[in-house]
Amino acid sequence: NPTRPQVRIVIVGHVDHGKSTLVGRLLHETGSLPDGKLEMLKAVSARRGMPFEWSFLLDALQTERDQGITIDTTQIRFRTRSREVVLIDAPGHAEFLRNMITGASQADGALLIVDALEGVRDQTRRHGYLLHLLGVKQVAVVVNKMDRVDFSAARFDEIRDEISAHLTGLGVAPLAVIPISARDGDGVATSSLRIRWYDGPTVVEALDLLEPARPPEQLALRLPVQAIYKFDDRRIVAGRIESGRLSSGDEIVIMPAGKIAKIKSVESWPVTPLKGEQTAGRSVGITLDRELFIERGDIIAHVGSAPRDTRRIHARIFWLHDKPLGKGDQILVRLGPRESRASVVAIEKAVDPGELSSVETASIARNHVGEIDIALAQPIAADAYAANPRIGRLVIEVNGRIAGGGLVLSVDAGQRAVP
Ligand code: GDP
Repeated sequence: NPTRPQVRIVIVGHVDHGKSTLVGRLLHETGSLPDGKLEMLKAVSARRGMPFEWSFLLDALQTERDQGITIDTTQIRFRTRSREVVLIDAPGHAEFLRNMITGASQADGALLIVDALEGVRDQTRRHGYLLHLLGVKQVAVVVNKMDRVDFSAARFDEIRDEISAHLTGLGVAPLAVIPISARDGDGVATSSLRIRWYDGPTVVEALDLLEPARPPEQLALRLPVQAIYKFDDRRIVAGRIESGRLSSGDEIVIMPAGKIAKIKSVESWPVTPLKGEQTAGRSVGITLDRELFIERGDIIAHVGSAPRDTRRIHARIFWLHDKPLGKGDQILVRLGPRESRASVVAIEKAVDPGELSSVETASIARNHVGEIDIALAQPIAADAYAANPRIGRLVIEVNGRIAGGGLVLSVDAGQRAVP
């Protein structure tokens, strides 16, 4: 099946619990390694007199990527029976969080790994908490190194109960808790005689269960206006379709002004007419059936499914600036091409993701996460992240520098009636 839906995953867990080993195994068991690669690495290890480690595979792929040897390995990918899995790098703690929250990488699902001998550690719980924070709802827990506990069902049950309780308390009930030995391969792609007492999915089967994100073309139309051009007396509104689809004849509304028009023609920018429906990801120029005031930063949507026009936004942000963000602070808020001056009305939560605890709520310190209420100087048409992940993100600037970013959690409806 060449058209498997794609799912993006992160693999998280305490250092040394076996993340790299599991990735190496997954690549091998799903037949995703270049021919001869494994044999080559095993031979090199033997020659150097060191035991082979599955994590060498990852190191080798990483080196090739850095040196630009392999072309198509900007991301690690492999296939299961019904999914194309893309592995998102989860490097440093802060970087991982920053990338996830600013949208550089959004995971559909996660594997949380626990060493069967060491059990659930603080870092394991923290990573569970981060998944919750980042809105990753599909989590499978992998209890690794079962060989170190003689494949004991009792030890597995203990860990399963502890981690399930933690995750369920955070609102992220695990899809599955899977006993494996990543080093030896038990439970990764095939069930193992050594774990006969377990009848749930293997890791690969659990990945098959992940629901892919809704494709952006299935969401409501959002066309942020990038520019307006005059061309042969025609006025062309240009932008990239962030979500949804459009065709000529559609009735659209221009937000935040709320003015309505019909699409007269759709062309690829600059001037080739386009036939039929155009979908998310495409840059287009459209002409309208009437002259309306439109400016860069407006959002074009369909009548009936327009974003909310708001002056108040509730957001979850990751803060990067040296100076903590506090109540009353003046900031610049950017939502895609739109921006507005704004002030912080309230800091509702501030969390140090390293400590896993809520800290004092008066301000959000550098590398901390928080929930805030923002009042905008001008109304902006905004979507919550849950409704539209392509649009529902914000970036905060202070003195012309990016100081934070995150997800729009909710939007207060504006005073103006929205068509
Ligand atoms: P990471 O830091 O989470 O990426 O952990 P690694 O994948 O580098 O593994 C840490 C160590 O645990 C390495 O020495 C691995 O060989 C070892 N390891 C990983 N999986 C298993 C396993 O299933 N059984 C045993 N006994 N050791 C394992």
